[in-house]
Amino acid sequence: MTDTIASLQKQSKLDALDNRVLLCHALGVNRIALITQSERVLTAEESQRFNALAQRRLDGEPIAYIVGQREFFGLPFEVNDAVLIPRPDTELLVELTLDRLPAQGRVLDMGTGSGAIAVSLAHTRKDADVTALDVSPDALAVAQRNAANNGARVTFLQSDWYAALQGAAPFDVIASNPPYIASDDCHLSEGDLRYEPVGALTDHADGLSALRIIIAGAPQHLKPQGWLLMEHGYDQSAAVRALLSEAGYDEVQSWQDLAGIERVTGGKLNNLLST
Ligand code: GLN
Repeated sequence: MTDTIASLQKQSKLDALDNRVLLCHALGVNRIALITQSERVLTAEESQRFNALAQRRLDGEPIAYIVGQREFFGLPFEVNDAVLIPRPDTELLVELTLDRLPAQGRVLDMGTGSGAIAVSLAHTRKDADVTALDVSPDALAVAQRNAANNGARVTFLQSDWYAALQGAAPFDVIASNPPYIASDDCHLSEGDLRYEPVGALTDHADGLSALRIIIAGAPQHLKPQGWLLMEHGYDQSAAVRALLSEAGYDEVQSWQDLAGIERVTGGKLNNLLST
């Protein structure tokens, strides 16, 4: 068998971009090398390595888990099946948080997963005091490596939502991308989601239960005028605004993601709610 880089690209049943990513990963080369070395004959071991990766992709495994990495907010993040794959939509939550974070501000990322939100914040704002929590020790191990590899200073805590935060100093902003997919949503059994940690995707209920817990607990952990910002599902913005308004938050509003879908909703702590 005499595979060349070019022949493996021509024969492949994969999407062309996936194919290039997997070739680079299997051969340990960059995109340019795929062009400059296109006629190079691969060793049997190289062909085998590529074919094994291609088969995993054909079976449906997300490309980010196969190569163990995904870019978010311009930074490389290690990912494995203990964490959700960072989505570009979530960059909106990072930007809204940065806009509301004062100099030397304190910010909390609840349910950090790969650490994408917290690490992006700490990397962008060296002055910020960033805390990130997750209930999963396996996720926290990934997040800690991502902070170290990106030179981001983040304090990590293992915590079931606010449980381990008793007595902590209050925050200027609380941001979260919690599990918000309803347990009966068919998307859970389609595409990449089949491979992602189910506890990071769904609340095993109506999709709003984690958002309710976060909204109910935030007043005890926000500074006066502090902001709570949450990512949610494509059809949940009105429900999340209603929860925030009922809980007495001010300036309740939603923001659209790149696809024009209301994806993040937030509110400002009303002084009367502060404890
Ligand atoms: N945005 C993800 C999706 O719908 C879900 C993320 C989450 O549950 N927090 O694929």
